[in-house]
Amino acid sequence: MAELVVAVPPLLRADQAEQRYNEAVQAAVEKCAADTAGRTCFICMDGAAAEGLVRGCACRGGAGYAHLSCLARGAQVAVERSADGLGFERWHKCGLCEQRYHGDVKCALGWACWKTYVGRPETDEVRVHAMAFLGNGLSAAKYHDEALSVKEALLSTYRRVGAPEGHMLGQMGEIATSYHMLGRFETSNRLYRDVYSGRLRLDGEGHEETLLAATNYATALLALGRYEEGKSLLRKTIPASQRTLGESNEITLGLRCNYALALYEDPDATLDDLSEAVTTLEDARRIARRVFGGTHPHTTGIDGALQNARAALRALSSKATEDACSRLREEIARLKAENAELQERRTRRRLG
Ligand SMILES: [Zn+2]
Ligand SMILES: [Zn+2]
Repeated sequence: MAELVVAVPPLLRADQAEQRYNEAVQAAVEKCAADTAGRTCFICMDGAAAEGLVRGCACRGGAGYAHLSCLARGAQVAVERSADGLGFERWHKCGLCEQRYHGDVKCALGWACWKTYVGRPETDEVRVHAMAFLGNGLSAAKYHDEALSVKEALLSTYRRVGAPEGHMLGQMGEIATSYHMLGRFETSNRLYRDVYSGRLRLDGEGHEETLLAATNYATALLALGRYEEGKSLLRKTIPASQRTLGESNEITLGLRCNYALALYEDPDATLDDLSEAVTTLEDARRIARRVFGGTHPHTTGIDGALQNARAALRALSSKATEDACSRLREEIARLKAENAELQERRTRRRLG
């Protein structure tokens, strides 16, 4: 397993939290400004407060506008009221539409959450959740460098407190994703490989976590153009996923689509490879339409991949036809020349 023990990064220091929170709220308010003009906060019913409003969930129409500080206070109260830790969900999800926050609003809530619990002991469960939430919030707002240092700090915390191996593998996967987003594909590839082999050992080849780790590892291999390794990993993994999760499961579908991608994106693809990619995607699309419906992103994503695979197949087929035609033309020209030479020799013989 790769060593990723790091010192606590400056951005996680308790004395930084207030300022980082204020900056993140300002960024979120600015991002939401066009949408929130003239609205009031659904929590305090005040539209004129200096803080400014945000909305970063799935609320529609006039619903869901709020001050970040009001959302944070509501989440803090939910945590205080629940003894079982379930109250933490309120940091992730809007209390009206019950959908997860995204983008800069999620990031600002991450800082609000971290500011609230940073003073607790390192082993405190809520503080650990807060650090994870901040890391995800920074990713959501595309601050991938900062997200990476928070995620690495959390893995260090896990190591120090002796967290279960499954937690550590999950966190390594998070770190790998940040490296991937930063374009550091070699590093993310190594980490995804370690997570996958850790999951194989810990959970076995048919476990959902192992299959997810295989999906990530395969994606990383394909991003590096390592098509043969990607294909051989997928050939091994797809039957395990079909057996344990079933043909209609989204992980199985994802693995099969990755396999088709590996087939048609490989610059050395043969006609057989491209035909297999097309039939795989046609089958996947049929399943996706039935399970998720025609407008779901999974289905439309497969539609796009299928178009690409068909285009690649058409291009290679017409190139093959063209090659065959030009070979035929050369052959005809050669025969004609031979024939002409023969005629000439006969003529010469007759005259001679
Ligand atoms: Zn408010
Ligand atoms: Zn909402």
